[in-house]
Amino acid sequence: MSELIANEASCLCGSVKINAPHVNPKFTVCHCDTCKSWGGGPFFAVQCGTEVEIKGVENIKEYNSSPWASRGFCATCGTHLFYKLNKNASYNMPVGLFSNVDDLVMDMQYFSDQRPDYYCFSNQTKEMTAAEIQAYFSTSP
Ligand SMILES: [Zn+2]
Ligand SMILES: [Zn+2]
Repeated sequence: MSELIANEASCLCGSVKINAPHVNPKFTVCHCDTCKSWGGGPFFAVQCGTEVEIKGVENIKEYNSSPWASRGFCATCGTHLFYKLNKNASYNMPVGLFSNVDDLVMDMQYFSDQRPDYYCFSNQTKEMTAAEIQAYFSTSP
């Protein structure tokens, strides 16, 4: 029963299981300082919407990393599980948790102005700077 079907994910120790039926294959990369501190590098995330089923919620620790979002991880093994927006409780999850999503495309790089000089991706993507993100989200409903 260790075989995962499409859009199912598990933390390293297996105490948290995730089923995300609506994974957007256009994933994003975030270069912001918070993501870099959290994971030691850029955060590769897929949007999973709000309809996410999580088993083993009692094993998840959530940290409010900003006034608008929290980050969840397994309290036993430390696997990063999600970045969740408070406003609509929608989940962004690490793309690497999902072994079976087809047609993944790196679509957007957030906080491109905070990307350090010691790496760059050759993927052709859209990019947004901190200022562009702030302007975009302050005008969105
Ligand atoms: Zn775990
Ligand atoms: Zn970030």
